[in-house]
Parts: sequence; C-alpha cells; structure tokens
Amino acid sequence: MNPPDRLDAALADAIAGYRARNPGSERQLAEAAEVLPGGNTRSVLFHAPFPLTMARGEGCRLWDADGHRYLDALGEFTAGLYGHSHPVIRQAIVAALQDGLNLSSHTVREAALAREIRARFASLQLLRFTNSGTEANLLALAAATVHTGRRKVLVFDGAYHGGVLSFGGGASPVNVPHEFVVACYNDLDSVRARVQRDGAQIAAILVEPMLGAGGCIPGEPAFLHGLRAIADECGALLIFDEVMTSRLSSGGRQAQLGLTPDLTTLGKYLGGGLSFGAFGGRADVMARFDPRRADALAHAGTFNNNVLTMAAGLAGLTEVLTPHAIEALNRRGERLRTRLNDVFVRHGAALQFTGLGSVMTLHATNRPIASPDHVAGTDPRAKELLFFDLLERGIFLARRGLIALSLPFGDAEVDEFVATLDAVVAARRELLPVAD
Ligand code: PLP
Repeated sequence: MNPPDRLDAALADAIAGYRARNPGSERQLAEAAEVLPGGNTRSVLFHAPFPLTMARGEGCRLWDADGHRYLDALGEFTAGLYGHSHPVIRQAIVAALQDGLNLSSHTVREAALAREIRARFASLQLLRFTNSGTEANLLALAAATVHTGRRKVLVFDGAYHGGVLSFGGGASPVNVPHEFVVACYNDLDSVRARVQRDGAQIAAILVEPMLGAGGCIPGEPAFLHGLRAIADECGALLIFDEVMTSRLSSGGRQAQLGLTPDLTTLGKYLGGGLSFGAFGGRADVMARFDPRRADALAHAGTFNNNVLTMAAGLAGLTEVLTPHAIEALNRRGERLRTRLNDVFVRHGAALQFTGLGSVMTLHATNRPIASPDHVAGTDPRAKELLFFDLLERGIFLARRGLIALSLPFGDAEVDEFVATLDAVVAARRELLPVAD
C-alpha cells in the first residue's frame, strides 16, 4: 500500500477500535436520535462515527458511558476553566439554592458580579448580562447599529461569534440577517479595501483578538491596533469578542495588548461554569439600556440575572481565579504548547499547535499560520488519526483539535499529555505529514 492508502486503512482501523470500545456511547446516540436530530443539540460536539457520551467529571478527569477515564484537555471549549465542580463554586451554588431560585426580581448578586468584572476589564464602564456569548454578540451589534445609525458590520473570514454569527468557510445559512462585510483576518489591507467602499455605513468592526473556533490563530498586535485606528477613522465601533480570550489574562487579551475597544463581549468561564454571557463598554453607548430613560433600548431575558450563574460567577472571580491563578494557568498552557510542538519537531511531523496561553488548536502543517487560508487544503486525516489514538490512550480533546486547560490541570497532567502524544506520534510517524 502507498502511504495515503495506509493512512486511510489506519484511520479505518482506529475508528473500528473506537466503535468496539464504546458501545454505550453509540447506543446512547442512537436512542437520542429518536428525539434530537442526529441525537445532538449542540453541533460542535458531533463527529463521526459518534461522539462519546460523558457520564461524570471530577477535577480535570472525565468518565464516559462505558467507564473509560480521560484526562480532560478540552475544558468545555474554554468554559470549564474551573474544572469539574470546583468545591468553592459548588458551595456557592448550594448556598444560593438555600435562598431560593427564580426570585422574579433584581438580586444583590448581579451588581456584585458586574462590579468584579468591571474591576478586571477596565473598558467595560457599564455592562449587562445575557445567557450566552452568542446573545452577548447579538446585543453588542444591536447597540452598535442603534448608536451609529448604520447597518453594516465588518467581520472576518473564519470568525465565530456564536451559532447565528458564524463565518468559517463562508457565512452560515442560519446567521442573523445583518449586512455583513467580510474581510481577511490579520490583513489590514483587506480591511481598508472594505472600509474604502462601505466605511460610511459600517456600524461596527467585530473581531476576536484570537480566532478561536477558527483555529486558535492569534491576531497580530499591529493588526488589532490597526482595527482600532480604522474604526475611529470611519466612525464605527470596535467590538472585541473576548468570549474565548478573556481568560488569557486578568484583563483579557485587551489588557495584554493595551487596547481599549468600544464594546466587549464575554462568556464561557465567567459564569463559573454555568450559562453566561455579558456585553459592555463605553458608558455613552451602554447607557441607552438604562430603563429610566425615555429613549431606553429594551434588553429582556428571563435568566439574565439567574441566581445560580450570578453566585457561581461571583465565587469564581472573588475566591478562586486570582490574577496569580490565571497567570499560572496561562504559563502552564504556554509550556504545554511548546512541549507538544517539540514532540512534532522531534519526530519530523508537519503538525503544530497554535494558540495563546491556555488555549490551543492542532493543525496539520508546520508552516506559519496567520489566517484560516493558511490551513485550508491541509489533509484532515492525520489530525483525525491522532484524535482517536489520543482518546484510546485516555486524553480527551475536541475532534477539531482544540485544547483548553482548566485550573486542576497541573504540571503532572502536562507531563502525562506530552508523554502520550510522544507515544502516539512515534507509533504513527510513517503515516503523518512530513515536515519540510
Ligand atoms: N464568541 C466566541 C469567540 C466563541 O468562542 C463563542 C463560543 O464558542 C461564542 C462567541 C458563543 O458563545 P456561546 O456558545 O456561549 O453562545
């Protein structure tokens, strides 16, 4: 067999082994498919032939429906920063439950959590809560279009801002019907070209400081600062989607860059592991949501201030996620990424993890990656093979190669992951793309 055929055969074998080891997960999906399309209610989780059903988590470990134990290197796509049921957060949730759920009114916790968030993210002079990052982006865009009286929104190819704001491989047919203008990530010339044409109608430039779902491709500082200047020149608001990147430092990626967006959106871990989103920024823009004003914009949401999220988020920020803890987590992530990439270099395999701090994604090329174009056309099979091999050896990550560390993921877990990847790559070396 030539190498491509051998790779296909190895992949088929790996998938057959996966199927044989996981009858409980396969059965669960088949039963779920009777009531959920494809057995799924969250598209990102699905992969062929069927995803694992997880039964339980503790610290940074997971157990699936067939009783296998995993090192959780995915950390709920960055939302699971605290690990599974951190004792402080569990206690805060139990304490909140004692006082009753669904109080049908303001509570003291929402302002307390807002204050903690503002203390970290200085650009959020005023903020409001939502139930997800998607909603936060929808509201930020609404605020920007109302504030500017303009209709267009500049976004980037490969960006992901939520289930209805997705720009990977072209705009999704389920996207909300804003008038989107799409530019290339890390390419200011492409932004200037769009702005030259549409600048007077652009309400907002919406950007992830690092493309997250688009492959953990960091925005170059000059690119992001350039967007700040362009937004000012054309009178658009600059919206930083920090739903994923806010965890890169105590003040998010914007603090590391020394850049002040007009609006910022947040989500994921900031709700302590429960459903969460927030949008906020310049007081003059956000003040339109003040219901005491005659021209107030409405922003409803039964669960915007839900008791459990407010309690869990507050406990996380005040009692667990100190600036020291977040720095240590991101340093550990940098060490992990360096060591994983060393494994590929040592074995001459053309694979790499890109990312920042504690968040990274695997790509099947060793060339520099500045935009999704640079990974288009890479052979997906090597990544798929490594995914199934790592699962077999007890490492759980996203099928697309995303890793996000949680606080309980310590130095011993870094060693465990590196040793496992080393063994997998050594065993498959002949089948992996060769470094040039
Ligand atoms: N923005 C970014 C950068 C994200 O990564 C995500 C989710 O992965 C979202 C927005 C949407 O957040 P949610 O899944 O909470 O709606």
